[in-house]
Amino acid sequence: MSGQWEVVIGLEIHAQLATRSKIFSSAATTYGAEPNTQACLVDLGYPGVLPVLNEEVIRMACKFGLAVNATVAQRSVFARKNYFYPDLPKGYQISQYELPIVEHGELYIKDAEGKDKRIGITRAHLEEDAGKSIHEGLGRSSGIDLNRAGTPLLEIVSEPDLRSAKEAIAYMRKIHTIVRYLEISDGNMAEGSFRCDANVSVRPRGQKELGTRAELKNLNSFRFIEKAINFEVERQIELLEDGGKVVQETRLYDSDRDETRTMRAKEEANDYRYFPDPDLLPIEIDEEYIEAVRRTLPELPDAKQQRFVKEYSLKASDAAILTVNRALADYFETAVAAGTAKARTVANWVIGDLAAALNKDGLEIETSRIAAGDLSGLLDRITDNTISGKIAKEVFDAMWAGEGTADEIIEARGLKQITDTSAIEAVVDEVIAANPTQVAEYQAGKDKLIGFFVGQVMKETGGKANPGQVNAILKKKLAR
Ligand code: ADP
Ligand code: MG
Repeated sequence: MSGQWEVVIGLEIHAQLATRSKIFSSAATTYGAEPNTQACLVDLGYPGVLPVLNEEVIRMACKFGLAVNATVAQRSVFARKNYFYPDLPKGYQISQYELPIVEHGELYIKDAEGKDKRIGITRAHLEEDAGKSIHEGLGRSSGIDLNRAGTPLLEIVSEPDLRSAKEAIAYMRKIHTIVRYLEISDGNMAEGSFRCDANVSVRPRGQKELGTRAELKNLNSFRFIEKAINFEVERQIELLEDGGKVVQETRLYDSDRDETRTMRAKEEANDYRYFPDPDLLPIEIDEEYIEAVRRTLPELPDAKQQRFVKEYSLKASDAAILTVNRALADYFETAVAAGTAKARTVANWVIGDLAAALNKDGLEIETSRIAAGDLSGLLDRITDNTISGKIAKEVFDAMWAGEGTADEIIEARGLKQITDTSAIEAVVDEVIAANPTQVAEYQAGKDKLIGFFVGQVMKETGGKANPGQVNAILKKKLAR
């Protein structure tokens, strides 16, 4: 009976910080380079080399802390997390332990009822990434690529406040949106720049203490996170209902088989023998520095969404879609400012036709085939009655195909709406003469037939007659 169990989830999100060079060395961080071409002596863990902190990561972590209403520590400390793994030549990872740079943050997501729900952010700390083992195409050997070693990460740890896979996804999306607004991470999940471990447990509803958790690794898409959590919840409930016990462990999600399985027993913090890194000074920043960073913060997603609802009279759901991505929000605002169409009309086109076209061609808003100003030019022609909304879709498709601006296409294809009353009247007369049966039925009281007549006139004019005018002229001529 899953209704008797409450699901508890806490996420550890790793966001790769978008610096040009690594956190403690000057090697480049560009993705996709030939293996081991972007690893210098520091990243390779040579003896005698010293790490030098990249100041940019402090600014980025600070930005994040302020954006989630957290405390940014004026003093934080790097610590060594000791473990052996082939992709970690130093034998320890530089991270932060007792004194992280960011603590006690929060954000809001929508819960199942659509209400705002607060999710606590325990901490966010700076650390370096490890390298990567490569097994493909190497026969019985494995290779090590240390390009990623020393890449800066911000690990963002949530409180165990999430109560379903859906809430976990909503939270992760929110963090994703925030780091991209702040331009501190590109959030590219396919390249591993944004990934998470999910800690999952269940407990009998009403119980205070948390159940024993499993930590799920290797979650690199929103879809897999949802599937992995749901699988794990079912597994734990079944286990407990059969009288078994959940063991605290690290489990790997296998997307091919859609299941999680044991990877290793969960290590405890003391297994890592954390201690302050003697090669690095504590990070010390003052109030003035933090305030200077605060002044660089952009308008954040929640604030932008609220402003869109107020300023442009958008539905909250539309404002939410438009503000998920800062570039999309900018596109919308540019299009509104450039033309005469109502903001709601612009929103409908951006969320509807434009989003569909981008999606179909696998493009992002930044690479849209129609610029904001040009979309605005199209919508202006609806506003001033040059074309109908329906013809506008045809023009949109032609613009997308690169045939030119709205005006050029309307001209070239002769799509100008017919607003000349006498021309419309002539077509109306023809349609009335050709359909005596329907005329009689209409005049006998079958009002709904007006739609039929409008349709006929539109057909005759290739959709170019002004629908409002057609309606009015038809009603006048059909009345008796
Ligand atoms: P570790 O660093 O060993 O993985 P932490 O105690 O720092 O462990 O917790 C990591 C994450 O696990 C946090 O997001 C926290 O909210 C979550 N968490 C801790 N206990 C539980 C639990 N019983 N059920 C679900 N999530 C949990
Ligand atoms: Mg962990």
